[in-house]
Amino acid sequence: SAASASGTFKASDLQIDFCPPENLKMKPAVKDLVFGRSFTDHMLKILYTDQSGWGQPRITPLQDLRLHPAAKVLHYSVELFEGMKAFRGVDDEIRLFRPNKNMERMNRTAARCSLPTFDGDELIALLKKMISVDQEWVPHTESSSLYIRPTLIGIEVFPYSTLNKVHPKLGTPVTTPYIGGHWKEQDNTSIDWLIKPTLGVQRPVEALLFVILSPVGPYFSSGFKPVSLLADPQYVRAWPGGMGMMKSGSNYGPTLEIQRYAEAKGLHQVLWLFGPEHRITEVGAMNIFIFLDKGNGEKELVTPPLDGLILPGVTRDSLLTLAREWGEFQVSERDITMTELVQASHDKKLLEMFGAGTAAVVTPVGSIHYQDQVINIPTMDHDQPLNQRFYNTITGIQYGRIASPWAMSI
Ligand code: PMP
Repeated sequence: SAASASGTFKASDLQIDFCPPENLKMKPAVKDLVFGRSFTDHMLKILYTDQSGWGQPRITPLQDLRLHPAAKVLHYSVELFEGMKAFRGVDDEIRLFRPNKNMERMNRTAARCSLPTFDGDELIALLKKMISVDQEWVPHTESSSLYIRPTLIGIEVFPYSTLNKVHPKLGTPVTTPYIGGHWKEQDNTSIDWLIKPTLGVQRPVEALLFVILSPVGPYFSSGFKPVSLLADPQYVRAWPGGMGMMKSGSNYGPTLEIQRYAEAKGLHQVLWLFGPEHRITEVGAMNIFIFLDKGNGEKELVTPPLDGLILPGVTRDSLLTLAREWGEFQVSERDITMTELVQASHDKKLLEMFGAGTAAVVTPVGSIHYQDQVINIPTMDHDQPLNQRFYNTITGIQYGRIASPWAMSI
């Protein structure tokens, strides 16, 4: 991919500060892996400033960030993230799955969020390097993996970014630009040449890209248990002209309370509806797929179109591509409403429903609680459920059992 308007960092400039051996952490046992609970020994950091563009990529021991309290991320949610995984294959090779798709989405989101863009191939090269530094953290068992969380935040002012620059008046390097929350003016004259923090509702002039890694266990420890969903049209995740198709943090914070509300009702996740016709959009933080019996021996796999409300999932794209390659049933990116779903269920034409995303590949749906109805879906009650076939094919590629251009060895 081409370098962008913000220029790019270069993987070849990487500097590595290894974690000292005495500080290396114990790796949790595979059976104790809970999503996002433990982190590897290292992180990647790359600073961007409007003044000097992207800085040098650095791998350092995992450490806290130091931010000015006016940092844009803390006030205006100037933030985006990605979610991807590295898998240790049956042949002990470590592979990424279609990482270029995550890089494209990350750059699209950055451009929409006033954050700097970059050359995705350079970040992939850095991720490979980083994963090889922490490679023992990639679980040695199938169904577990290393979750990768690239993150980009608007920081407005990074306390270290002016360090060691030569002061234009003093002619000496600035060693203490930021002390105890105040900018130290070394000669009691203006230091306007330094970037100063501002609470202004403006695009950030500085940003930090960082990546953290977290070993994760099987999403379903006890096999494939279909989940129950709350479908309540009064809560909306995304809307036309909004940010639904972007992976910005500001899309996720407002969903947490609704998720808790679903759990309080004894349900697993939220089915996000939109509009007066109760269009089905997504489930939790996954894309949604519905497998219908069309009668006359025909079947149809339906997922909502990328109309701006839907996050363009890498898994979504992969399932659509596989299904079209198989050519055994109709594959539709089209709107589908609760009315159609209820009717299909009533007519016994609703075969399967499942979420699709990086976390679990597929998540079978067992029931939907909608207004005063409970719609039961026989997702797992077939001889060979379609969602299981997708799962086996995708994990086969990820763990090196099936050769595919979608797998990229580190
Ligand atoms: N929808 C939403 C809202 C998500 O957060 C995610 C997770 N990134 C997905 C769908 C699935 O996307 P992917 O297959 O790329 O993980």
